[in-house]
Amino acid sequence: MSKAGKVLLVTGGGRGIGAATCLLAAKRGYRVAVNYVSDTASADAVVDTIRRGGGDAIAVKGDIGSEADVLSMFETVDRELGRIDALVNNAGVVDRKARVDAVSLARLERMMRINVIGPILCAREAVRRMSTRHGGKGGAIVNVSSIAAVIGGAGEYVDYAATKGAIDSFTLGLAREVAEEGIRVNAVRPGIVGTDIHASGGQPDRVAAMRGLVPVKREGNPEEIADAILWLLSDGASYTTGAILNVSGGR
Ligand code: NAP
Repeated sequence: MSKAGKVLLVTGGGRGIGAATCLLAAKRGYRVAVNYVSDTASADAVVDTIRRGGGDAIAVKGDIGSEADVLSMFETVDRELGRIDALVNNAGVVDRKARVDAVSLARLERMMRINVIGPILCAREAVRRMSTRHGGKGGAIVNVSSIAAVIGGAGEYVDYAATKGAIDSFTLGLAREVAEEGIRVNAVRPGIVGTDIHASGGQPDRVAAMRGLVPVKREGNPEEIADAILWLLSDGASYTTGAILNVSGGR
């Protein structure tokens, strides 16, 4: 793999959709920074797989909900891989199934901090490096939203859906703000995807329970989401900005 490959940072790249994105990106020649928050073994496994395949990758620990961590993560990427060309704002969390009349302030603050403030802080740092206005050479950002943004998550996690609605608005606005500065900004809205996120929200059987509600009658796999993300990052999407692509099996 060429050392001249483009530099990509994937937040939450250690597991699930983020890990699939890192692995596919490395196959396409990107040099990949794999961010994670606590599961070092999983992030290291992604890095090892990329390196064994001849690619270039580093693991970068950091909580995207912490400004100090975001700043140090970007400094690590600058130092170890060079100036970033692409960002995938993938890290995100759900919480226990709960109606809005039962949610706590602590839950809301955590959800907003990780799912909204984190991606905006990461995009800010990326734009500071990519924008021609700041002496950069352009780049691409893909935000990972959710089909929940348009379905609403009623009875399950309306607060999570609202964070993804914010990501959709942020995608549209930032795309227009930096369109003349060489940066494209797009988003994907996954539907039900087989990852650990459902168990982390206390619903390990959620994928099996929801499968029948998906028009194509199956869940997506992380690689199918990664394919859409990599297309949006690629030169094949050179005229695509401010787009939000449903990758949800028709749901
Ligand atoms: P996942 O399997 O739970 O993996 C989440 C990844 O994000 C992990 O690598 C985790 O790090 C990292 N992460 C969590 N909080 C973080 C933080 N504060 N700072 C940095 N990294 C953090 O999740 P997934 O299902 O792949 O979801 C990825 C994205 O897709 C999320 O934005 C999610 O909302 C969205 N999405 C998923 C689905 C689905 O059905 N799976 C559907 C629609 C949208 P550690 O490994 O260190 O814990």
